[in-house]
Amino acid sequence: MKPRLNVIWNEIYCKRCIICVEVCPVGVLSLEMDEIAEKPGCIRCYQCERYCPDIAIEVMDEKERLSSEFGVGSSEI
Ligand code: SF4
Ligand code: SF4
Repeated sequence: MKPRLNVIWNEIYCKRCIICVEVCPVGVLSLEMDEIAEKPGCIRCYQCERYCPDIAIEVMDEKERLSSEFGVGSSEI
């Protein structure tokens, strides 16, 4: 599981079909060096999570996002 800015990507489940890249309405996802990358601008619409056929990408909830961004433990939030 690899946290990005707003999504967590599972490199084992992912088959690199790029459906998530194509459904993202703001174009922040891309396939780079065999990994799903995310650039800033996600509007948290959940389309990537909804359309991924392999449950390989999910939008982080606020606790997960802060933990990923700042290394804050859930007990500190
Ligand atoms: S839609 Fe799912 S399986 Fe397809 S590239 Fe995105 S994360 Fe991987
Ligand atoms: S939640 Fe929406 S805006 Fe954010 S990466 Fe997924 S499809 Fe794109």
